[in-house]
Amino acid sequence: MPRPIQATIHTAALRHNLARARRAAPDARVWAIVKANAYGHGIEHVFEGLRAADGFALLDLDEAQRVRSLGWRGPILLLEGAFELRDLELCSRLDLWHTVHCDEQIDMLATHKTKVPQRVFLKMNSGMNRLGFTPQRYRAAWTRLNALPQVDEISLMTHFSDADGARGVKEQMAVFAEVTRDLPGERSLSNSAATLRHTPASPAQGRPHESYVASDWVRPGIAIYGSSPDFPQHSAADWDLQPSMTLTSKIIATQSIDTGATVGYGSLFVAEGPMQLGVVACGYADGYPRVCPTGTPVLVGGVRTRTLGRVSMDMLAVDLSGVLASGAQAGVGSEVTLWGHAANGAVLGIDEVAHAAGTVGYELMCALAKRVPVMVAP
Ligand SMILES: *Cc1c(COP(=O)(O)O)cnc(C)c1O
Repeated sequence: MPRPIQATIHTAALRHNLARARRAAPDARVWAIVKANAYGHGIEHVFEGLRAADGFALLDLDEAQRVRSLGWRGPILLLEGAFELRDLELCSRLDLWHTVHCDEQIDMLATHKTKVPQRVFLKMNSGMNRLGFTPQRYRAAWTRLNALPQVDEISLMTHFSDADGARGVKEQMAVFAEVTRDLPGERSLSNSAATLRHTPASPAQGRPHESYVASDWVRPGIAIYGSSPDFPQHSAADWDLQPSMTLTSKIIATQSIDTGATVGYGSLFVAEGPMQLGVVACGYADGYPRVCPTGTPVLVGGVRTRTLGRVSMDMLAVDLSGVLASGAQAGVGSEVTLWGHAANGAVLGIDEVAHAAGTVGYELMCALAKRVPVMVAP
């Protein structure tokens, strides 16, 4: 028998979450962000659930190729644009739209030999200081691009640093609006947090948001994978998002221990009384964070309990005492949900596990290890 660990990708959840993002930005078209192999889900695994998107945005050229080979004929956007001249040839061949964020990319475009002009997204650095032209240099870049025969339509784009937090999007939005005021072209601004939080009528706030971001294209990533962009302020359930990835395994051994006994490497957990524990076939080599401390939530047979002690490479321990006391069955072979959906319908949000690890759902999804078999559910 194979090791019992398994990841499941939920097609219906992806479909639901995409529709949820659309509802938050009813006038915009939606890029489904599938970078980093669809946030660790596998591009091939999410394609069916996301095919109602208006386009796919990513940054690896081989991933763009994979989306095309799945039969997608609609828009594909390279979020970091071309890295070298050869990439522009691939853009021509596969009809990829690409971001232009620096002068070197305009130089490349100027030397690119193509009969068919390319659609570009000109990126402004409106304050995040990662990619893009500064507000001062943005219009000059636009003018230069606009003069190139290699360039077709120019769309205008920026990215928010604080859409999920207290600082919000107002300052960056004002900078972007001011500089682009009289420039033609479609606009793209919002990631998941901006899409959900800065909507015409944000359900979490119960009133129209003062800094509603209007645009032609939104760019939700994490939300379509059912993780909250602003946990713990809002959970995925608060946003009406459903987990698109479940990580499950099974209990492969049990131990009954007495007061004072310790569990795992470093003896980090010390039993305060006699208790039952289960050993789960899941460890950090599967992508479960080693830094998750005792108390990280986990479901056994769909019943909520906690991890015990240090996570090993291939195993971790869970507390069964409370589960057994509730009258549930728990022993070798019991289903363990590390995150996502349990068979009994219970849900454990990936954000809760990420929070215990001091990180975000994004990182856990992306870290799902290659050795974990992936199944796609309807
Ligand atoms: C990753 C990314 C997104 C999506 O961000 P989420 O927080 O996952 O919604 C949007 N735009 C750009 C430019 C990105 O790189």
